[in-house]
Amino acid sequence: MRVTTDERTHRPGECDHHNIRLDPRGGIVTCRDCSAALTPFWALTMLADQYAVALAHIERLNTRLAAADARILDLSAELDGKQTKEPLKPAPTFP
Ligand SMILES: [Zn+2]
Repeated sequence: MRVTTDERTHRPGECDHHNIRLDPRGGIVTCRDCSAALTPFWALTMLADQYAVALAHIERLNTRLAAADARILDLSAELDGKQTKEPLKPAPTFP
């Protein structure tokens, strides 16, 4: 989870406060985009939600990666099968 500087400006009503600024002195949390003051509890809840979203994304990517690996193995086995059944013919030569 990264908390980065973002120069975008949002109106408070349409801001989801995903870019937060943490002031270690006083434990103040504000939104970098709309400057709204946020409670630490709200910020922690938002970060936990974003963490869950990121984990679900990783899960989906891992599933796709496993499917791609399986497909590569299938294609590789298919290719090996073809090569043993049909050995490469020598290149045709011209008279
Ligand atoms: Zn905001």
